[in-house]
Amino acid sequence: MQITAAVFRAVGTPLTVETVELDSPQGHEVLVRTVATGVCHSDLHVVDGLGRFALDKPFVLGHEGAGVVEAVGPDVTTLQPGDHVVACLSGFCGTCRQCLSGHPNLCTGGIVNRPAGATPRLSQDGQPFQTFAGIGSFAEKMLLHENSLVKIAPDLPLDRAALVGCGVLTGVGAALRSAGLHAAQTVAVFGCGGVGLSIVQGARIGGARQIIAVDMFDGKLAMAREFGATHAVNSMTEDPVAAVRALTGGAGVDHAFEAVGNATLVRQAIESLAIRGTATIVGVLPPDAMISFPWMAIRPECKVQTSRMGSNQFRTDIPAYLDFYRQGRLNLDAMVTRRGRLDEINDAFRAMKAGEVARTVLLFD
Ligand SMILES: [Zn+2]
Ligand SMILES: [Zn+2]
Repeated sequence: MQITAAVFRAVGTPLTVETVELDSPQGHEVLVRTVATGVCHSDLHVVDGLGRFALDKPFVLGHEGAGVVEAVGPDVTTLQPGDHVVACLSGFCGTCRQCLSGHPNLCTGGIVNRPAGATPRLSQDGQPFQTFAGIGSFAEKMLLHENSLVKIAPDLPLDRAALVGCGVLTGVGAALRSAGLHAAQTVAVFGCGGVGLSIVQGARIGGARQIIAVDMFDGKLAMAREFGATHAVNSMTEDPVAAVRALTGGAGVDHAFEAVGNATLVRQAIESLAIRGTATIVGVLPPDAMISFPWMAIRPECKVQTSRMGSNQFRTDIPAYLDFYRQGRLNLDAMVTRRGRLDEINDAFRAMKAGEVARTVLLFD
């Protein structure tokens, strides 16, 4: 079948909206009509040729997708046509060591794409196209493994549910799962884009006593306050480490989160910790990034850890976080600061770089 998709061809060039051939579902695959997709920094990283996502071949990006199941392969057992679904990067095999030890977000089973040499899911004039993490939501239809999808209640708005598939899952999960913060603890969040704002929300849901938002943009700090930050620090006008110390009576915070992927912010997060504090690095740094800090900056028994996709178990986490939304405890409405169509994708990237948005959502209907 022919579908319309935004195609990435080379680093630094705009995506182009093209007609692409989509195969029919095989085995455990599901065909989904895309209704909405968020535009995530990880997509932009590919376009900019950054980090481990550096790729220079035809690709359909997009991974924060939500839609309606149209057809399923013969081996699919968890979904049927008509189901509303959210896609997630953390497709899991269910049989590898990480999956079996309760960490499916770290799955090494490699089931999200078809095996090498198989008929490609997407192609154009015989040339195979790849998809981001086996998803490819910058397209009017997605063909993906059933373990990359979770079914959600049909009354939920798909444009907001889509965000929970990546940015919100990553941020709320970093606070509640990776950091495991306790009620009445103190928190600082470095970087208040879509993920940082979701960490702020996760900290609020988890009962943090103090949530200090740090960013370069006053607009983002105002949003962070709207999402539950109790204090805001503009890192262009104040030394954020000194500010965090002052706001916590000199103690530092129990949990500091880095949500950008910047070595300076990682160092600042570590230096902001209280005794026995934990720094959780959520951002993706360039592979060769080096982080150095004076030994005395580390308080006794502090921990530094990374978080991959909010340490999620998304088949249960996404419905739980959507319950928070229904109950008014998780604000997804204000996370969507911009809506557009597929052919406005390049402008969505521009707005993201300019720091204008929490999230742009592209709509297909
Ligand atoms: Zn993402
Ligand atoms: Zn696995």
